[in-house]
Amino acid sequence: MNVQDAEKMAALLEPSGYETTDDPGRADLILVNTCSIREKAAQKIYSQLGRFRTLKEGNPRLRIGVGGCLAQQWGDRFFRRAPYVDLVFGTHQIHRLPEMVGELERTRGRIVETGFYDRVRSLGIPAQLAAGAVGTFVTIMQGCNNFCAYCVVPHLRGREESRPLPEILREVEMLAGHGIREVTLLGQNVNSYGQTLPEKTDFAELIGAIGKVSGMERIRFTTSHPKDLSARLIACFGGVASLCEHIHLPVQSGSNRVLRRMNRGYTAAAYREKVAALRRACPGISITSDVIVGFPGEEEGDFQETLELMREIRFDNLFSFQYSEREGTAAVGMDRPVCDSVKRERLRMLQALQEEHTLEKNRACVRRLEEVLVEGPSRNGSEDMTGRTRGNRIVNFPGTTGLIGKTISVRIVEAFPHSLRGEMEERGGADVH
Ligand code: SAH
Ligand code: SF4
Repeated sequence: MNVQDAEKMAALLEPSGYETTDDPGRADLILVNTCSIREKAAQKIYSQLGRFRTLKEGNPRLRIGVGGCLAQQWGDRFFRRAPYVDLVFGTHQIHRLPEMVGELERTRGRIVETGFYDRVRSLGIPAQLAAGAVGTFVTIMQGCNNFCAYCVVPHLRGREESRPLPEILREVEMLAGHGIREVTLLGQNVNSYGQTLPEKTDFAELIGAIGKVSGMERIRFTTSHPKDLSARLIACFGGVASLCEHIHLPVQSGSNRVLRRMNRGYTAAAYREKVAALRRACPGISITSDVIVGFPGEEEGDFQETLELMREIRFDNLFSFQYSEREGTAAVGMDRPVCDSVKRERLRMLQALQEEHTLEKNRACVRRLEEVLVEGPSRNGSEDMTGRTRGNRIVNFPGTTGLIGKTISVRIVEAFPHSLRGEMEERGGADVH
């Protein structure tokens, strides 16, 4: 979500003459895109802002803006702790950036804009953005109505609001026309897409429509709430050729007691059943997940149930977090908080187990022929190129930059904990995903 917001900000400011730079020392404008989903990110922001303050002392033209969830949440409180900040803009104000930055150029004042809009705006991605990129994101809905007890998103991003299907389709067609080959549809809970629209539609219909866009070779989406994962969506895997065989399906916990306290709306058994249905519809589908450890009231037995669920399902990858209390959420002040050292230890155990599973899954790819969409030069310090399989695994292989944006067949020769190594096959299609 944040990467996409940052891309949008850059694109929106380009017509005003701004270009992105990797060197903050050369910048006239620094926009810090914040996240408050977890406490750590929130803590880091002031130390980062402090570093930019030093730059401001050497460059009086420099303006500093803070956007994203924390800006939405804290508003003008930012000025109190960081008086050198010039602009604070909320998650619903990104489209107004050119206007706000223009005002900053003209005045030396400070601006705070954190109002909510009642409708999701299309930001109309300029063609320049698409140039050179292989994949990009498209927001299909904003906000969330779920109110999971730990989560700040519904409080900060407001109620769920879907963008009309034809508008999304036009955007995807435009992206395909500019050479984008992969689109990731974004929403906090894509499974409830369409519920706020006057016309009757759903996420499966949207995927079906995007599946027909010529040139858009791959569709991905995130995030899917298990309670709303429909049979219609499950049937899209295998049914829509460009839909990649990967789903991110956050489970959060393997214990029913904890899931109930989290207000997740499903049981561990129901989750297992959804996974089984996905695997029946699409054998070999990659399944990734999120888990929170140390939610208030999580006892050793609950944690063991999470490990048990992991052992049984064997996620292809897992993002795991220590629970952190977020202002305004239902879990604030819940009884039986878990102490930090226990949270840390649980996280360590869980990550060690997942590492085994990830490696095991990566090893199972060895000798397989995989379809890889080539993204660019590898970051592994060699001459290799890099791309992703349909199951979302990174593959490095010897190749040339002429392959960027192409879908090729790669024979996997070696597996590592976080990537695969392969060799391009001259001919023939990929066997599975
Ligand atoms: N809408 C998505 C997730 C958004 S947040 C969904 O429903 O899955 C991404 C992940 O951050 C969550 O899945 C959760 O695992 C984690 N997270 C959110 N709030 C958290 C908190 N207060 N403490 C720790 N982890 C949290
Ligand atoms: Fe947060 Fe739950 Fe909504 Fe995801 S579904 S954004 S975790 S409230």
